Amino acid sequence: MGWSLRIGRIFGIDIKVHLTFLLILVWGAFSYGGNAGPWYGMLVTLAIFTLVLLHELGHSVAAKGFGISVRDITLLPIGGIARLERMPKKPVQELIVAVAGPLVNVILALILLPLVVGLMIGQSIPFSLRLMTQPGMLGLLTFLLGANISLVVFNMIPAFPLDGGRVFRAMLGFFTDYYRATKIAVTVGRVFAFGLGLFAILSMQFWLAIIALFIFMAGSQEGLVAATRGKLRQWQVGQVLGRNPISLPPYATVGQVAPVVMGSYQANFPVLDPTNGQLLGFTTNRKVAQAMAQGQGQQPLTEVMQPVHNVPVVGFYARLDEVLEKLAETPQRVAAVYDGLHFRGLISLEDIQRVFQFLPRRRGEIMPQPKQL
Ligand SMILES: [Zn+2]
Repeated sequence: MGWSLRIGRIFGIDIKVHLTFLLILVWGAFSYGGNAGPWYGMLVTLAIFTLVLLHELGHSVAAKGFGISVRDITLLPIGGIARLERMPKKPVQELIVAVAGPLVNVILALILLPLVVGLMIGQSIPFSLRLMTQPGMLGLLTFLLGANISLVVFNMIPAFPLDGGRVFRAMLGFFTDYYRATKIAVTVGRVFAFGLGLFAILSMQFWLAIIALFIFMAGSQEGLVAATRGKLRQWQVGQVLGRNPISLPPYATVGQVAPVVMGSYQANFPVLDPTNGQLLGFTTNRKVAQAMAQGQGQQPLTEVMQPVHNVPVVGFYARLDEVLEKLAETPQRVAAVYDGLHFRGLISLEDIQRVFQFLPRRRGEIMPQPKQL
C-alpha cells in the first residue's frame, strides 16, 4: 500500500502504518487528552491501535496456521488491514480466521475486566461510563476494556467484508458453494453497511459514515471478483488449452529457435526432453527476442528458460479459477498442464484473460489479477 511506513516485524509479518495515521495521532492527542493534556491523549490513541494490531495479528496467526502467508498488516485511520496471500475457501477455515481477530479482543477484555474491577474496589470508586475519560491507570484500563468490547461488537456486524460478514459467508458455505455464499453475504452486507451509514449520518458521526461507505465499496468489490471467478469455474483447463503447441528442444541455441518463435502467435514455448517428451522448462517469445536483440543468439536456449521446478503444475481437468489461485501463490504467470504424468501444454494468465473476454458478464465485472484474490 502506498504512503505506508514499516514500523516493525512480528511473526515474520511486516507491520506498517499509513501516513494518514499520523494525523489521527494528532487528532487523538487533542480529543482524548482532556485535562491530562495531549500526551495522555496520544497514549490512549496508541493504545487503541495496539488493540487493533493485536486483532489483526489474531487473523494473521490463524491464517498462517492454515498455510496462508500474510504479506503485511497496515494500520489505517479507519482500522487495520491484514493482507493475506489468499482467502481460505474452506468454510471451517474461513470461520476460524474470521473469528480469530475478535477472539483476541474478547481475551483482552477478559484480562482487563478483573484488573478494572480490582482497581475500582481498591480505590472504592463506583463504576460509571465517565471513568473512561478520567486520566490515570484506572481510566486508561476502563477505556481499553470499552474499546475491546466495541471492537468485538463492531467487527461482528454481518456487513461483508467485516469479520461478521465473513463468518456469515463461512456459515452459508456449509450449505451452498463459495460463489453463491459470497453473493448472498455481499448483498446482506450492503444492506447492513447502508444501515450503518444512515445511522452515522443521522447521529452526525462523520467518521463512522466514512467507514460505512468503505465497507459498502469493499464488499461490492469482493462480490465482483467472486462473480468473475464463479464464471471461470465453469471452464476446465483442457477445454481452453491451445491445440498442437510448438515445443522447443533443449540442445538448440537461441538463434536456432528464433525463426520458429518469430513466426508463431504462441507466447510461451515448452522446452521438452526429446527422448521422453517430459517438460524441462519453458521460454517466452519476449525472452528469445530480448536475447536476439542483445546479440546473444549463440547462447544455449536453456539460458533463457524457466526451469520446470519453478513452474506451477495444474491438472488437465482443473477449473480455471483453481489455476488463477495456483498462479496467485507464485510469481509465475504460466502453469504447466498435466494429464496424469503426461505433459499437455502451458496455460498462462493471458490465456485465462482471453477466455474471460468471451464470458457473458455484467458491467463492472473485471478480470481479477491473481494478486487481488
Ligand atoms: Zn477483524
